[in-house]
Order: sequence, then C-alpha cells, then structure tokens
Amino acid sequence: MRYQFKFRPYQRRFLRSLTTNHGKWDIREGIILRLTNESGKLGWGEIAPISWFGSETLEQALDFCRQLPVEITDEIIFSIPDELPACQFGFESACGSEFFSMPNAPYPMPHAQSFSGLLPSGKAALNQWKTLWQKGYRTFKWKIGVNAIADELEIFESLIHTLPASTKLRLDANGGLTYEEANLWLRTCDNLKANPELPLEIEFIEQPLPVEQFQQMLELSTSYETAIALDESVATLGQLAACYQQGWRGIFVIKPGIVGSPSRLRKFCHQYQIDTVFSSVFETAIARQAALQLAAELSQNNRAVGFGIDHFFEQEETWFQSLWNDL
Ligand code: MG
Repeated sequence: MRYQFKFRPYQRRFLRSLTTNHGKWDIREGIILRLTNESGKLGWGEIAPISWFGSETLEQALDFCRQLPVEITDEIIFSIPDELPACQFGFESACGSEFFSMPNAPYPMPHAQSFSGLLPSGKAALNQWKTLWQKGYRTFKWKIGVNAIADELEIFESLIHTLPASTKLRLDANGGLTYEEANLWLRTCDNLKANPELPLEIEFIEQPLPVEQFQQMLELSTSYETAIALDESVATLGQLAACYQQGWRGIFVIKPGIVGSPSRLRKFCHQYQIDTVFSSVFETAIARQAALQLAAELSQNNRAVGFGIDHFFEQEETWFQSLWNDL
C-alpha cells in the first residue's frame, strides 16, 4: 500500500499542569500524521513522545518525519527503527486506523468503571477520591515515595479506611523507594490483604525501585503476596521483552504511545500472555483512540486502564480543525 504523507507538529497546554518526578509539565508537544491511501481515504496518527520516560525526543521524531518522501509505503512504516518507538506507534496506527474520518464525532469511551483515577499525592487524596468516585471511578492510583514514608503510611492507613468497599487501590512509587522502604510497603499491604475485614483491594505497587534495580524487584515480586507492576522499567518493547526474558511474571504497565510497534506488541502479548495494565502518555484523541483499541484487545484480568476520562486539553475538535486548516 502507498500513502501520501503529511505531518503537523503541535503544542497543547494542559488544562492543569502535571507534576511528575521530572518536574512540571505544562505543554504537550507532538506530531499529527495524515496518510491518504490510494482510494483517497484518510488515516490519522499521532507521535507523542516522552523522552524522559524512554522514548525518542520530539526533535528526533520531527527529523524522521522531515526526511520521509511525500509518498510512503507499508515497507517504510514497518521498518521504522526501534530507537523511534513513538514514531512506530504513530505511523502504524495511522495506516491501521481503518481510515476513519477524523475527528468530528466524539469517540466512544469505555465506562468510567474501567478507568483508573489518579488521586493527588499526600493528604489531599483523603478528600479528593469522592469527586472521582462520583464520576464513576472505582480504581484509584495514589503516588507514594513523594513524602516521608512514616507520613505516607499514616495517610495510607486513613485512606484504606475511608475508601468504599469494592474499590481497588494502586500505589505508584515511580521508582522512588529504597529497598527497605519497598519491603515495608509490601509488608504493610500483605498484612492488610490478610485481614478479611478489609473492604478494598490493594491491586498492586507500581515501580517500587529505580529501573537499575530490576533484580531486587524480581526478588520482591516472589517474596510478597502483593503484586508488583513494572512501569518505567518497561517503557519500550525491547525493555519489556528483556524483563520477561529475565523472569518477570508480574504486571507490565504498557504505554502504547511510546512502547513501539503495535503489531509487535500484539504478537508479544499473545505469545506470552503477559498481565498488562494500559496507560496514557497524555496524548490527544488521535493516539488515545488507537491506544484504547489496543488496551481493549490486549488487557487481561479486567484491569482498569490509566487513561483519564476527563480531557486533559480543551476543545479537541476545534483544535484539530485549526491545526489542519492551513494545509
Ligand atoms: Mg507509573
């Protein structure tokens, strides 16, 4: 198949700036791709890199787009190098997007119940879960490793007795715990699990230790009942496969937007039947649609996906049209 190729870089300001380990994030930058197939139908894709999480930089993605001819083929798309995982995702999802006519119609979104809602770190979580609960969220994620562990354990104790029965709670450390702290969190969660009175479920602890400490996380994952999910450790397909080869049988957090080729991800998931949780890279509707499709196809164990239902950006349709108007 041959396609006419056009692309457009974008910058979008978050409605609220996001605070991560790597500082404040105010503007999402990425690239929208448009492929026109031989019968004149359009396919859309999005490259939404997060270089500090392990993908290529925006500049590298732009360089790749700039050096492509105006007419590209499937061969070109399926041989994008592994160093450009966000490009692999953007191009492959554009040519596999069934050439939908974008994006005046709102996308069908799964029910809130199948999404995980992000609680604010620290004490603020104790009140703010209510707002998310009212919107329909039943799975929450709370960031740990942000404040002193004694304080966090105390808030955690209140939190688990505040959250309604049947809630699922995920703890995300973003690699910020020491080995001793990770043991303490896992022991605390195991003790809670052993308590039949506990109405809610601690679903897993996400990325307790830094990426370099894989062996320790592997050891922890076999020492405790509480599940561990790898996130930063498995940013790309190559890392994911390496962790699997080294024996990881816990949960894998997959961010489709930066993990790499969707077709190879599908193959890997089918072949090894890994336990996955899908999560957003704060993409716009274009990449979100492709990512949620993959999540629906490949999720096992009924795990909620980490995509906000609330839009992170304003007025996606208007924005999208203005982006392409002057083409
Ligand atoms: Mg995470």
